[in-house]
Amino acid sequence: MAKPVTPRFCASCGGALLATKGLNAGGAPFVCSSCGLPVYEDPKVAAAVVVRTEEGILLLRRAQRDRAYGKWILPGGHVDRGEVVLEAARREVLEETGLRVEMTGLLDVYSYTNYPWVLVVYTATANGGRLRPSPEALEIKAFNQEEVPWDELGYESTAHALRDYIARLS
Ligand SMILES: [Zn+2]
Repeated sequence: MAKPVTPRFCASCGGALLATKGLNAGGAPFVCSSCGLPVYEDPKVAAAVVVRTEEGILLLRRAQRDRAYGKWILPGGHVDRGEVVLEAARREVLEETGLRVEMTGLLDVYSYTNYPWVLVVYTATANGGRLRPSPEALEIKAFNQEEVPWDELGYESTAHALRDYIARLS
């Protein structure tokens, strides 16, 4: 995995950034030594969806070559700046699976200590489109709740969301 880097230069003026060591009143971890711009390292927001089809819960095997490569994940992805989170979730499902969905609710929001992502997970039922392979998935498959591949899930959050979803069904 790549080494974490800290920002070094101001995006506004190109000046060198200084670590504030908590002295900055606004709480920013860095400040520009030239123009004084505070620089924050905000979390990234992602949206994912537990999609129920007639065959079961839709999971896809991740095709992107990172630590979750080949593991099963929920359809989802990052939310663009200015995009409505629910719409991002709907868009990602369509892009990754070809299915249109009817959103049925918010499952939960998942975040972890020292983890840069905040994941918003919705529930939905498939209501149109056609399941088709996408470059983002090695395979797409529906699992009934007894078949979920718990040992082959891509992320901790995938397991937590599926566990919460299944708990609601009973
Ligand atoms: Zn600056």
